[in-house]
Amino acid sequence: MHDLTSLHQSSPTTVSNIIGTVVAVQANFYQVCLDQPLIHFDNSPIPYLLCTRRTRLKKIGQQIMVGDRVMVEEPDYQDARGAIAQVLPRKTQLSRPPVANAEQMLLVFALDEPLLEPWQLSRFLVKAESTEIPFLLCLNKADLLTPTQQKTWQERLEKWGYNPLFISVRTFQGLEELKNGLKDKITILAGPSGVGKSSLINSLIPAVEQRVNKVSGKLQKGRHTTRHVELFELPQGGLLADTPGFNKPNLDSSPSQVIHYFPEARQQLGKGNCQFSNCLHRGEPNCIIDENWERYEHYLTFLEEAIAQQEATQQMADQESTVKVKMNASGQEYYEPKLETKKYRRTSRRQKHQNLQDLYDNQSLEELEEFEDDLDF
Ligand code: GDP
Ligand code: ZN
Repeated sequence: MHDLTSLHQSSPTTVSNIIGTVVAVQANFYQVCLDQPLIHFDNSPIPYLLCTRRTRLKKIGQQIMVGDRVMVEEPDYQDARGAIAQVLPRKTQLSRPPVANAEQMLLVFALDEPLLEPWQLSRFLVKAESTEIPFLLCLNKADLLTPTQQKTWQERLEKWGYNPLFISVRTFQGLEELKNGLKDKITILAGPSGVGKSSLINSLIPAVEQRVNKVSGKLQKGRHTTRHVELFELPQGGLLADTPGFNKPNLDSSPSQVIHYFPEARQQLGKGNCQFSNCLHRGEPNCIIDENWERYEHYLTFLEEAIAQQEATQQMADQESTVKVKMNASGQEYYEPKLETKKYRRTSRRQKHQNLQDLYDNQSLEELEEFEDDLDF
């Protein structure tokens, strides 16, 4: 009976159908962009609510990330505040950057200034492939190259299996096409610094000064001390996640997976089988992968890295698992060899998604929550 009473007390008295998307998170506060603006008594629309999360969600450890679809209760029309009562099921989830429901990535590189470097580009592409989140590849600063130079890159990247979009934030080249690709989707923007990501955001979202995190003084506070992800609303529909702190990505896939991250090699794999089922495609007899493709050298380098990584992981696992401490009848400790060895698990899809976190040097949500000060409105 007691349980029933408390349940009743904590339940909302009216059923909430206020749904929105979390577009910014700072400590304990969530900026929610409502699917349908609320209407204030003076008829002005309220498109955003600054929300806390219900204690119940906190108790069950329910994290809230940008991109989350949430149900809001008890809106305060005067102050545009509310409380998140429920998080709707996520379609995808990345832990670093912490973004829910991301549907694609936008990889941005510059053709020049800084000069496009094939190895660096390849590294990002391979890492992006390993996340299994679809991505668009954009090459910015096309204005710095002649049409012939652009064509050379186009042909080269086609051989890699990609069809990049050549854009220029400066001359607006390709921006309409890019906008179409971003429409109504949650996209994660990524790329090295200096390639024009901020300029691109400013160009895609002319009203960028209306950035959601500026709506509130509370969210603004700490913006420069705490790295966080924020979602920008695109005028034509869709959200763009800006992710500060882009790192050189590392690859932590199993060696046999690496070949699948090269579209030009995947295409060769589709034509049959290598003689050895565990073939790593580096000159084994009757290997189906020929060596005459530009990024073959890249492949070998990534493969070496993955092998080294696997060996290091295996070594650690072996150290952990070959002996275990036991206690004899007189209470003395002794070491007994373990018979079973740890099996190598294939990377799950979820893990792959999480691997994207290596691309970023972002603070985790848990770290952010340390900033919680439990301020009440
Ligand atoms: P971010 O570090 O990726 O955010 O790059 P920024 O947006 O700060 O841009 C870096 C520099 O590139 C700035 O000086 C921009 O003016 C310049 N830039 C951005 N887009 C273009 C472009 O399309 N063409 C040229 N020539 N310069 C650009
Ligand atoms: Zn092979």
